[in-house]
Amino acid sequence: MDAITRRPSIGIMGGTFDPIHHGHLVAASEAMNVFNLDQVIFVPAAMQPFKAGRRVTPAEHRYLMTVIATASNPRFDVSRVDIDRGGWTYTIDTLTDIGRQYPDADLFFITGADALAQIAEWKDSDRLFEMAHFIGVTRPGHVLRATGLPSRSVSLLEVPAMAISSTDCRDRVRRGKPVWYLVPDGVVQYIAKYRLYQM
Ligand code: ATP
Ligand code: MG
Repeated sequence: MDAITRRPSIGIMGGTFDPIHHGHLVAASEAMNVFNLDQVIFVPAAMQPFKAGRRVTPAEHRYLMTVIATASNPRFDVSRVDIDRGGWTYTIDTLTDIGRQYPDADLFFITGADALAQIAEWKDSDRLFEMAHFIGVTRPGHVLRATGLPSRSVSLLEVPAMAISSTDCRDRVRRGKPVWYLVPDGVVQYIAKYRLYQM
């Protein structure tokens, strides 16, 4: 297609990013490559409804770690829409806000196998599939399938397997174990500087 008339394709990677790790970054990079996305926007959540009752690091720390982790990639960006809206973060609102900022773009929401399995429980789940194409990515320990989801709006993508979770990174820091090479170097240093995940 003509480069001038082509609609931009924007990937959106939502998450709590507490902290952001190489599993998130590899998934975004692979989706960007396979789906020819112009950009991937990481969107840290304010409050994740599925994490209600759990202790979550203040949003500004999670936002800054996401900025540090993505800074070296000119096609990665970070959005504050969910943090600035505040309250419970619903993907329907994320897509609405980003869609307003990029009215001419096609949106692709990237999500791991564990999150994809819950999507039917998300707020306004049927409308979600009209607003974006969903890219479900493989994640070690989880089965990737799109059963019950509209096939036109969901693609499944195998990405390099990274058996990393933020929960495991937090546990490792708490127990004095290294998180080097699980998260970007700048994030290791940020965690140490602000003594995150110590207790
Ligand atoms: P937590 O353990 O705190 O839930 P997490 O590692 O699952 O953290 P989230 O911020 O909850 O990270 O996830 C954001 C998105 O990234 C979700 O769609 C999730 O499925 C996906 N994701 C997280 N880790 C990986 C991974 N290692 N490989 C592929 N996708 C991942
Ligand atoms: Mg998670």
